Amino acid sequence: MDCLFCKIAQKKIPAKIIYEDEHAVAFEDINPQAPVHALIIPKKHISTGLDLKEEDNALVGHLFQVASRIAREKGIAERGFRLVTNTNAESGQSVFHIHIHLLGGRRMHWPPG
Ligand code: 5GP
Ligand code: ZN
Repeated sequence: MDCLFCKIAQKKIPAKIIYEDEHAVAFEDINPQAPVHALIIPKKHISTGLDLKEEDNALVGHLFQVASRIAREKGIAERGFRLVTNTNAESGQSVFHIHIHLLGGRRMHWPPG
């Protein structure tokens, strides 16, 4: 399968990996939109949130745990941060391997653009 984030997870394409375990990888976004901008992905290929199955429930929880861990490590947990998962075209999803954006280190705006 020709998937950019699968290739990053398999180290076939370089990325600044900041966390890895058996099920998840996190790396710096190549085009950061905030002082902290990491992407948290499952190693398993899942295209969008719409494709999650009951069996993925623990995995999704784990991805949130990883996001919290990175937020603490980056020193933005107490100040606050934003987690975003874009889904399909109108959201702006451009990579069809599910990922959580971790954004922080500056004040976030609401409503988002
Ligand atoms: P989406 O638009 O699908 O929600 O988010 C995809 C994100 O992946 C974007 O923020 C984009 O900057 C990032 N991205 C795209 N290609 C690469 C890449 O090759 N390496 C890294 N580290 N990030 C990428
Ligand atoms: Zn993939």
